[in-house]
Amino acid sequence: MAIDIEGRLNEPTVGTRENRLGSITGYNGDLHDLVHQSRCGTLQNRERCFSQSSMCLSMCAIGQLQGIRDIAVIYHAPSGCCATAAGSNTLARQISGRIGAVYRSVLIGSDLDERDTVFGAVEAVRSIARKVYADYRPKAIFIASSCVTGVIGEDIDSLSSELMAELGVTVEPVHCEGFKSRIWASGFDVSDHAVVRAIVKPPKEKRNVVNFKNFYESERPQITAMFAELGVKPQFLYMNSTVEELEHLSESLATVCICGTLGTYLGNALEEKYGVPYVRTINPMGIAGFEAWFRELGRVIGKSAEAEAFLARERAKYLPQIEEVKKDLAGLRAVIAMGPGYTYEVARVLQELGMTVVWAAAWHYDYQYDNKEVPPALNHLRSHSPDNIKFSVADMQNFEVLNILHRYQPDIYFSRHPGSTVWAIKQGFAAMYVADEYLIFGYKGTLAFAKAVRDTVRNRSFEKNLAARVKLPYTDWWYAQQNQAMLKEVV
Ligand code: SF4
Repeated sequence: MAIDIEGRLNEPTVGTRENRLGSITGYNGDLHDLVHQSRCGTLQNRERCFSQSSMCLSMCAIGQLQGIRDIAVIYHAPSGCCATAAGSNTLARQISGRIGAVYRSVLIGSDLDERDTVFGAVEAVRSIARKVYADYRPKAIFIASSCVTGVIGEDIDSLSSELMAELGVTVEPVHCEGFKSRIWASGFDVSDHAVVRAIVKPPKEKRNVVNFKNFYESERPQITAMFAELGVKPQFLYMNSTVEELEHLSESLATVCICGTLGTYLGNALEEKYGVPYVRTINPMGIAGFEAWFRELGRVIGKSAEAEAFLARERAKYLPQIEEVKKDLAGLRAVIAMGPGYTYEVARVLQELGMTVVWAAAWHYDYQYDNKEVPPALNHLRSHSPDNIKFSVADMQNFEVLNILHRYQPDIYFSRHPGSTVWAIKQGFAAMYVADEYLIFGYKGTLAFAKAVRDTVRNRSFEKNLAARVKLPYTDWWYAQQNQAMLKEVV
């Protein structure tokens, strides 16, 4: 059993990526070495002598759950931990507005203070849950923990069971203490675990639905039309999904995802527990990724002929245009730094477009997914990359990225996090914020992406003007340091 989902679902907590998958946040070397060390089991995490702050896994766990409509999340945490809640709530409202749905989910913080850390505040959470249920009638309540509640040992498991019996609605504990993992993607697994454990029901009948794990579903109309050609409907997760829809995930024909890092736990859990096939190809970015992904989906659901017909039609429309733009991108040198799912995929797409990836940094590294296999995108990059790529693993350590940029002087920098992109721009580099997970989706997205890269490297006035007026905190001494010096062996 890859996950041992039956055993695991008895527990309200799910192991961190470090413990479950052996994932790391510190490495410096190259692609070939990384894959080789992963395969022979010698890869070790390397610690830093200095670290910048990174991101909290609570944000990922709660952010995912907040996308579900008509639920409540009670975050048992100091008010500071809830800093991102307003943004997530606004985002979810806007995205549900796009499909004409009404978003009524709420996130309530328990506002832990110093007194609560001494005496505990489980009773306060009980009162909050009663009030939330009376006021909003949510279809499910998630009670989430934070660092403080983890440290003082608040028993949110018993509380959830008691509240469920009292209120007659699903109440599920969500163990997302920020300190337990450096890898914020562990938060995705925490939310998936809560959904599979508390919401998904055993199947009664098969439905012509494909589960689609993504973030913000910006390509919902395109994907809905594309899937209609295969005779199926997408069930986007979790943004805009309802509790009732989630209950039926076990009845779907397959599960796909936009990012392997995001989809691994849910996809593998549904496959293992309910036999819903999980499509494990490289992801649908760029030409090779889209074709591999769509073909495999077609095969899994018995619609290969329909999938091929669609691909042939779209290829004829978009490939000549992509080839034309590629002429302007050939030979451009790029540095990228993103979550690992996107690092491998975007590196591959840049190579497809004729560019050279001089350095790829991943915010963490899963050397295996929950099925115990090396991530397909990494395997593909290892076997198809024309060059060995310099590679590092750094959990949003921007100071390392700036060092790399200064040393390699690329034509363009790509990141999926604005807090990283802006620093490259201040250094004077052309930079692209690959924010939308569908930015490079399919042939159409690949064409749009290629054009955006061309525009970004051609119009340089913004970075040049900004860099000329910004004084960065980095000294020549820092820029002269090699990355290897930043990491020490774990003892
Ligand atoms: S790391 Fe801990 S204290 Fe910081 S935001 Fe996350 S849960 Fe709160």
